[in-house]
Amino acid sequence: MKITTIHKLCCPFDKADLKLEIIEQTLDKDIRTGSLTCTECKRFYPIISGIPIMNPDEYRDVEIEDAYYQFLELDKSNHNIENFRLIE
Ligand SMILES: [Zn+2]
Repeated sequence: MKITTIHKLCCPFDKADLKLEIIEQTLDKDIRTGSLTCTECKRFYPIISGIPIMNPDEYRDVEIEDAYYQFLELDKSNHNIENFRLIE
């Protein structure tokens, strides 16, 4: 996804700005992997294969997001994810 498109996005819950973290980019600057964090509610939205995953909390997919965290070798507990809920 183009960075100009990502800058047009806002948090779907409170319309607040999102902080972008880029992890992987193509040569033509498309963002392949990264994350968006809401500056207000602190929800964490992964960008997987160029697609920001911005589903409502009840529709977030644990398996996709866990694969993302494993790919990045991240421990979810290291993130500020207050108000973030996963489907069990
Ligand atoms: Zn928010």
